[in-house]
Order: sequence, then structure tokens, then C-alpha cells
Amino acid sequence: MAIILDGKIMAAELMEGLKARVDALKEKNVSVGLAVILVGEDPASQVYVRNKGKACEELGILSETIRLPENTTQKELENLIDKLNQDDRMDGILVQLPLPRHLDEAAVLRKIIPEKDVDGFHIENAGKLFTGQTGVTACTPKGIMHMLKKGNVPLSGKEAVVIGRSNIVGKPIAMLLLNENCTVTICHSRTQDLAAHTKNADILVAAVGKAKFVTADMVKPGAAVIDVGINRVDGKVVGDVDYAEVEKIAGYITPVPGGVGKMTIGMLTENTIESAERKAQ
Ligand code: NAD
Repeated sequence: MAIILDGKIMAAELMEGLKARVDALKEKNVSVGLAVILVGEDPASQVYVRNKGKACEELGILSETIRLPENTTQKELENLIDKLNQDDRMDGILVQLPLPRHLDEAAVLRKIIPEKDVDGFHIENAGKLFTGQTGVTACTPKGIMHMLKKGNVPLSGKEAVVIGRSNIVGKPIAMLLLNENCTVTICHSRTQDLAAHTKNADILVAAVGKAKFVTADMVKPGAAVIDVGINRVDGKVVGDVDYAEVEKIAGYITPVPGGVGKMTIGMLTENTIESAERKAQ
């Protein structure tokens, strides 16, 4: 039976430490603020935004959610970001994705000044990650690394396989694992013989978005299996991994829910606090 890397417990510990950092800033009269922009009515985005607000409230971070109608123009959205870039109360600016189709997502993300880009999606922060410089790291990959380290999963020299090559999960987690001296393989929808790769993985990260995609026969016994997927099946949230079967042979596993997702919000608040700490200096 695998050791469970429990996101709920790890996130609770993380939040305790973060609360102390917010309090320390407040003692120096430095506030911490996060602005979240939500365009349109996407139901999943509404839930994510609400959860982000709740986490901020718990930590004493000022959080402001700005809701814009579906038909918001590129110019209107970019003007709002310009305003928030100059607003000293706001240490982080987050644009909830996906944006409605008529908006240019890459251009919107480029508008946020890199220091306030708490999602770590700005091209400058992505570039820093790829060139080994300190920048803001994307929240989900940062949360995964936190879980691996807290779980004492050996990384250096190990084979890591990432399934998925998105800019928000697949590519950045591959870079972070490489920075920890893993030998990294990125698999994707055109990979031939996926299982041949995954069976070699000491660390297997699944970021696909398909329920029960990773089955036990694809997993090396003893591997650390990190399930990033969020899929809704019969009203329930499940990951990309066939948890019941994989848990029997893996060395470590993250559950869904209660795994990576819990850490993502924690890392968002950490990135916001780090931005405020830089402001305080
Ligand atoms: P995405 O759709 O951008 O990327 C999915 C990736 O899966 C693609 O790169 C694609 O090449 C790969 N893929 C698709 N079919 C495949 C196949 N048959 N074989 C191998 N690879 C295949 O998704 P994303 O934004 O990276 O998110 C992935 C999943 O993670 C989703 O379920 C998403 O909801 C979830 N997610 C969770 C969190 C969290 O906090 N837990 C954060 C972000 C995303």
C-alpha cells in the first residue's frame, strides 16, 4: 500500500506558516492583497474563485474579486490590469482562466507586471524557470514539488515522467523536476507507447484531464504517483489515476480530492505573500 501524500494535512501546515508571515507583515504595517479577475460565468471558475477568496480570508489577506461580463473587450480587461498594476494595495493579480474565446489570453497575461503575476504564467516568470533564475513559480507545479519534498520522495537521479505538456502544469513541473536533477520525460497525446515510458518512472505526474487514465499496469512498483487531474464523473471529482488499483503498487500517491488541488491554493497565497514581502523590503 502506498504512502498517501495528503494535500489536506500538508496544506493546513503550510497555511499555519503563511498566517504567521502575514501577521509579521501586518506588524510592520504592510498589508497583503490579491485581486482576482473573473470574466464570464463559467461554473467551475466561479467555484475556484470562491475558494481562493476563502483562503485569503483565512490568512488575513485582502482579496478583491472583480467580476466582468462575458462580453468584456480586450481593451477593458487590459485597462483594468493596468490599474491594478499600479494599485499598491494589491500584491497579486490573477486572471481566472479560461477566458472567453474572443479574448487574447497570452496578451492579457503579459499585461500583468511579473512581480504581481502570482500565477507564475507571465512569459518572464516562465522564462526564469526555464533558465534557472528566481521568479514566481506556477502554483500547481510548486505545490507538487512541496508535496514531494514533504513526503521525502527521493528525486536526484530518478526517472520522472510527466504526462501532459500544458504551460500551466506539464512544462513547468518538468522543469522543476529537472532542477532537482531528475531525468525527465514529457509524454503527450502523440506519444507512442505511453506505458513503455510510464513503467520506467520513479516519479509519475499525470496532468491529462481523463478519469482512470493511468492504470496499475502502467506504473512501476514503488513509484511516486502524482495525480493532477480534476474530472467530474457522476457528480464526483476524480483524478487521472485509477486510485484504487494504483494505490496497491505505488510507493506514494496523491488522492483526488484532497491532494494536489489543496496545495495549489496554498501556493497562490504564498506567492502573494512573497510579493508583499518584496514590497516591504
Ligand atoms: P490541458 O488540456 O492543457 O493538457 C492536457 C495534456 O494531456 C495535453 O498536453 C495533452 O497532450 C495530454 N494528453 C491528452 N490526451 C493524452 C493521451 N491520450 N496520452 C498522453 N497525453 C495526453 O490540461 P491542463 O491544464 O494541463 O490540466 C490537466 C488536468 O489537470 C486537468 O484535469 C485539469 O483540470 C487539472 N488541473 C488541476 C490543477 C490542480 O490544482 N489540481 C491545476 C491545473 C490543472
